[in-house]
Amino acid sequence: MISEVCDISVIGCRVKVPFGRQQKIGLILEVTKTSTIPKSKIKKCTEIIDEKPIFSEATLWLVSFASRYYLHPIGRVVAAAMPSHLRKGKPTVNFIEKLHLTNKGKVIKAESIIKNAPKQAALINYLQKKGPVTVDILDDLSIDWRVQKNSLSNKGWIKVTKALSSNDESPILSRPTKGPNLNSEQKKAVNIINNSLEFQTFLVDGVTGSGKTEVYLQLILNVIKKNKQCLILVPEIGLTSQFIKRIIARIGIKPAMIHSALTERERFTAWQAIKNSKSNLILGTRSAIFAPTENLGIIIVDEENDVSYKQQDGFRYSARDLAIAKGSYHNIPVVLGSATPSIESLYRCTQKKYKRLVLEKRAGRAKLPSMHLIDVTKEYMPDGLSQKLIKIIKKHLKNNGQVLIYINRRGFAPTLICKSCNHVAQCPRCDSRMTVYQSKKLLTCHHCGSSRSYTHECNLCGAEYAALGQGTQRIEEALKKNFANISIKRIDSDSTRLKGSMDDALTLAITGKAKILVGTQMISKGHHFPSLSLVAVINADQGLFSMDFRGSERLAQNLIQVSGRAGREEQKGQVLIQTEYPDHPFWGALFDGGYKEVAKQTIKEREEASWPPFSNLILIRASSHRKDFTWDFLNTANEIIVSNKFDGINILGPVSSPMEKKAGRFRGQLLLHCENRKPLHQQIALLFKKIERKKCTHRVKWSIDVDPIELF
Ligand code: ADP
Ligand code: ZN
Repeated sequence: MISEVCDISVIGCRVKVPFGRQQKIGLILEVTKTSTIPKSKIKKCTEIIDEKPIFSEATLWLVSFASRYYLHPIGRVVAAAMPSHLRKGKPTVNFIEKLHLTNKGKVIKAESIIKNAPKQAALINYLQKKGPVTVDILDDLSIDWRVQKNSLSNKGWIKVTKALSSNDESPILSRPTKGPNLNSEQKKAVNIINNSLEFQTFLVDGVTGSGKTEVYLQLILNVIKKNKQCLILVPEIGLTSQFIKRIIARIGIKPAMIHSALTERERFTAWQAIKNSKSNLILGTRSAIFAPTENLGIIIVDEENDVSYKQQDGFRYSARDLAIAKGSYHNIPVVLGSATPSIESLYRCTQKKYKRLVLEKRAGRAKLPSMHLIDVTKEYMPDGLSQKLIKIIKKHLKNNGQVLIYINRRGFAPTLICKSCNHVAQCPRCDSRMTVYQSKKLLTCHHCGSSRSYTHECNLCGAEYAALGQGTQRIEEALKKNFANISIKRIDSDSTRLKGSMDDALTLAITGKAKILVGTQMISKGHHFPSLSLVAVINADQGLFSMDFRGSERLAQNLIQVSGRAGREEQKGQVLIQTEYPDHPFWGALFDGGYKEVAKQTIKEREEASWPPFSNLILIRASSHRKDFTWDFLNTANEIIVSNKFDGINILGPVSSPMEKKAGRFRGQLLLHCENRKPLHQQIALLFKKIERKKCTHRVKWSIDVDPIELF
């Protein structure tokens, strides 16, 4: 921005700028007195919205770092870092809007307008019963008021008032409650981190139940005591409710929470509380990394290996990796924690970039569960449960234990196949089979969401169809047949779609009212089900033959996480894994050496094949409704990259994506690999310049993924 009047004090403020016929909201990033753009082309800002910057120097630094690192336009990064209220140019203070009835409105009979204007009648009726009410309450009750408000006030029946929200409730909820006395490993970890007065990344590498959360709690208390802010990142809010409740109860402070389930207003209120340092306890998912923490004392990233820290579309950033950047800017400790740390983080410990703090044993009295394979090579089991497994489930139920059956696939079966001609029901829009929902007689594609009904006769030859393989619903049915009087609860994204249903399901699981749980990854991580004694894994084999170099890492992480649900209190836990490949070397590594051994072997493999963390990757993806458009773009990109002649960059592709057609679009990709990061970034910057104006670029959707974690 160029102006004679502006000085740097406006950096970080929002402005209104003319954009065609519209006004757009912008954020001032820099002030300069010169420009190469001719003066006639430069437009004037029409308004500076904020009196004080809404982005501090630290937040500006983080967005500009993220933009450069992830090669994503700064404007989009800034937008992602702002609550939508601010993006729309609304003031940074909260106004509370209230609806009141006028004298005329108080006497109007709702029934008299119900026929022509039922929604207005409902609103009048509500206000007559309850008196003046804030729009938040109406929103919470899903009462439709926005459109009705104008017509009712035009009729002179209601009036709307706006007042400044005071928003100064005390953040103190209760006295912090005392936890257990830490054991020596925990104490050591807490002391080392508390004594670190500058930036350092720590990896708290502790088996499930080893007391990592207790370590975090002590660190948080220490930072709060110094009146500084703690930023705690969790993978997914719905899956971490127990963890969050425990932190809040123990610290006794009302947290500011930032996650995707918030309404716009809630998100904005949390943003304000953080910005004004009203709350020193900040809890959130990925996007909370951009919270306007001005007075940060520590960042904690729980379950640091979780894939949900990486945004998989649009601005593809890793919140875990940005946490480290943010910590270094603020010069504070960053604590990564996991029972199954990512290979990247473990490797950085061996390089002494991170400091590893190990918790070897389960805290308290609980022991780690025992783990065994069930060889199902010789058994015919269309509904997925082996005889041996059924026997052991019975034993656990008899001893009053709870059982979790883990199968990472929802629906009844993944495939509908004709018994005679082997025709398989395919999604018309994707290169994918359709999942069978037998009770609803539906086939649904889990990739594009399309669905259709089916009959029992094959479309092609008229013979009978059969459902092949298992999903959660089939396992649930099979269990019902085998355990008629036992309460069984299925927990997957199909069964928990309704608001509150996840909480209800978790209550059944935690109280032990549900004796057998069947679930997907949704219940495999983080939860504490006190009476759970047996975990059975139904189809782990899928993971043994993954095309992705991260396949074995992921499989081991999933298995250890779900195993960690067993035997968390008095009863010793048992874990059973059904496999058709009992001799696969992966099992040897996992059973003999645990996650540590799998990690060690994986690091070796990655080094030999020069995969990350021994190299860096950038993935270019493109898609279009026409295959030739996709390829035209990828081939052009490839030619440009080759012509740029950077040493040391390997180009893998272009190739079709593993699932080439998805939701009607043809997808392809180009993977760039290099030992060093810098040439990769320079290469992409050049590519942007050269490819932007080409025709082929405008016919595809394309994206850049720096440090991709899925290679398709
Ligand atoms: P993690 O986060 O590593 O899974 P938690 O912190 O949740 O482990 O601890 C697991 C269980 O052990 C919890 O019930 C916790 O209260 C208990 N616990 C943790 N540390 C101790 C300790 N030092 N002494 C006794 N019990 C502990
Ligand atoms: Zn589909």
